[in-house]
Amino acid sequence: MEISQQAQALHDKAILIDGHNDSIIEHWARKDSMDLTPDWPEYQVDLRRMKAGGLTAMNSMMGGQTLHQSIELWDGMHAQVEKHPDEYLIVRSVADIHRCKAEGKIGHIGQLESCRCLGNSLHVLHMQYRLGLRVGNLTHGDAAETSLQGTRSPGGYCELADREAARRVFSGLTDFAREAIAEMNRLGIAIDTAHTNDAAFFQAAEASETPIEFSHGACFALCPHWRNLTDDQLKALADNGGVIGIIFYRNFIDQDPDKQNLGRVVDHIEHACEVAGEDHVGFGSDYDGIGDSIAMPPSHAETPQLTQLLLDRGFSEETILKFWGGNFLRVLTEVEEAAG
Ligand SMILES: [Zn+2]
Repeated sequence: MEISQQAQALHDKAILIDGHNDSIIEHWARKDSMDLTPDWPEYQVDLRRMKAGGLTAMNSMMGGQTLHQSIELWDGMHAQVEKHPDEYLIVRSVADIHRCKAEGKIGHIGQLESCRCLGNSLHVLHMQYRLGLRVGNLTHGDAAETSLQGTRSPGGYCELADREAARRVFSGLTDFAREAIAEMNRLGIAIDTAHTNDAAFFQAAEASETPIEFSHGACFALCPHWRNLTDDQLKALADNGGVIGIIFYRNFIDQDPDKQNLGRVVDHIEHACEVAGEDHVGFGSDYDGIGDSIAMPPSHAETPQLTQLLLDRGFSEETILKFWGGNFLRVLTEVEEAAG
């Protein structure tokens, strides 16, 4: 695809914040080095491609199911940053994201994908914060003994009526989830509701005093998957001041393989902007978290293509800057400023 001068200049100017990245845990799972610096053609992410696409920072998934796993991932991430201090930064504040942009570094924003590993302990949460946790994804859909929701999140495609019925019968946040949300509000950790069941989603949006992230997912109206947000959820997210990170995973973008393309990703961005508003839409690639599926765009290196398509579709430069990172930056700023 031809990238116009206007699109490239706009893309270069943008702060790009990826709402969800699974690269470090995927390296851990495959028993590879957790250093993303060498070229890793068998993965969707490496330093060269992140830089080619102008990535500023990303929510780096630091586990969730067990504390042991989470600590191993933190060790991998910290070791990477210690080894390559000119290339990476552990983001502890919004100022660090601006520093990444100014210095051409990639920022790791620590993100749990399930707070189950906290084991119902705020002490563990405090230690996670000290390691760099700034985004707490409440659940990975789990509903085990120390999970933060009572009913497991369903998977697959469904009807809108199934979603509406589920809300009435699902068990949402646990008592510890409410304690953890209050403590994350106090510490300055953003609440992330991707993967929650529908009851827990609405309860978390209500319980959190700061804007929430829905770090990776898409629009149910265009692709009726349990993991995507219905229009009333998009509106609740906007009311809360939060942001959805539109995912680059084809099965959440369209049920029909023939319609799984970058233009359809733009449809989701457009729909989310129409329903939630342009201040509430960002991106959450889920790179290296979607198995063998080819992402759209395939890696950060090709993200300028999306800037081009958004311009072609009539999005303003201002909206495109908000989409790439402005909205996540605003949420993180509000979360940080509200911390006590
Ligand atoms: Zn996920």
